[in-house]
Amino acid sequence: MSYVKGLKCRECGRWYPKRLAAGCEDCFAPLEIDYDYDAISRALTREVIKSRPHSLWRYRELLPLDSEPVVGRASGATPLLRADRLAASLGLRNLYIKNDSVNYPTLSFKDRVTAVAINKAREFDLEAVGCASTGNLANSVAANAAAAGLPAYILIPENLEPSKITATSIYGAHVIAVSGNYDDVNRLCSEIADRYPWGFVNVNLRPFYGEGSKTFGYEIAEQLDWRAPANIVVPMAGGSLITKIYKGLKELERLGLLESEVKTRMYGAQATGCNPITDAVKRNSLDIRPVKPDTIAKSLAIGNPADGYYAAGIISESGGWAEDVTDEEISAGIRLLAETEGIFTETAGGVTVAVTGKLIEQGRIDPDELTVIAITGNGLKTLDAVRLAWPPVIEARLAQFERIIGSGQLSAVSRQPSGTVFNHR
Ligand SMILES: *Cc1c(COP(=O)(O)O)cnc(C)c1O
Ligand SMILES: [Zn+2]
Repeated sequence: MSYVKGLKCRECGRWYPKRLAAGCEDCFAPLEIDYDYDAISRALTREVIKSRPHSLWRYRELLPLDSEPVVGRASGATPLLRADRLAASLGLRNLYIKNDSVNYPTLSFKDRVTAVAINKAREFDLEAVGCASTGNLANSVAANAAAAGLPAYILIPENLEPSKITATSIYGAHVIAVSGNYDDVNRLCSEIADRYPWGFVNVNLRPFYGEGSKTFGYEIAEQLDWRAPANIVVPMAGGSLITKIYKGLKELERLGLLESEVKTRMYGAQATGCNPITDAVKRNSLDIRPVKPDTIAKSLAIGNPADGYYAAGIISESGGWAEDVTDEEISAGIRLLAETEGIFTETAGGVTVAVTGKLIEQGRIDPDELTVIAITGNGLKTLDAVRLAWPPVIEARLAQFERIIGSGQLSAVSRQPSGTVFNHR
């Protein structure tokens, strides 16, 4: 049973039946799924949701599949963790981490979007799937395509981290590195999608794919006992996740599933080396000026973000703000999260942590309000972003161990005590 009526243009409202589509044929704006919310509100209650297994399919009436999912069945349902030690370091008193660095199967939030997109490709009976990726999407499309028995064509910028390339090729995907940046890769994928009968998850499957990200917001609200937090800090690449988290919260409100109105302020985070969305927000504008990315946060390195205009829009509409941080601040953010909370995140998570610190310093986030930060990817994929001292080598003798611990050499592993304020400069 599906609650999807069709597809609708976000700008001109033109309606289309369910099908592969990159955007509106009249005005080229993105297409949105047109749901029958009245029917959903009769079917989807808190009790129904609670009775289901822990995965993103708990909210399946709000996802655009017509049949039961065959892959990605265990995706979503990641932990929401209270983070008192990180909070103390940042100068906050009510902080939670939504930890998608442990999402199934490829350890990033992209497992939510591909769970929907690859199942949709099966429903459309497509011969193959593909994507343009900054890394994590490549991993996730390749894994779920393998599980679905579909060939995958994955196009990436040539300068991607080696671990993200290996973690794509391992699934038997056809991986092609393109000389140029993500925006060049994406343009090529649009041309390929026009010519071949394949589903590119973030091109012609995009209206379906994006819906998977809403579950990040549903889960936060359910895990907070059906309340929307005061603030959410989200890393932005194409700007889709931040808009879909907000859409998800608004849908729960509309369906009467929340305790109170959504007053959540959405905060966007980028690297200074690729900041087209934060730049627009800081100019109080929705006009995105494309940039050439130059940052260690490769997973966020999209210079011409497809949903940048909408991301800047919901940031300002919700009363939030956006900031960006340098590569040094990103590495420091990764280490701070690891040392305070025992969570090893990738560069995008370093961006989120460091930007949160900056927003608090600027007084843009009230330290007493409930704040959730989105940790969206796993640090084991970007080991080069944090170069740490190699451990000292000793012979297996107690005397040598005691000499080393007395020598001060071990203090390279610094312990950041709770209560100190994170310094960004
Ligand atoms: C893709 C990605 C994002 C941002 O996603 P958009 O929806 O493109 O803004 C954030 N974090 C990680 C780890 C990602 O891989
Ligand atoms: Zn249109």
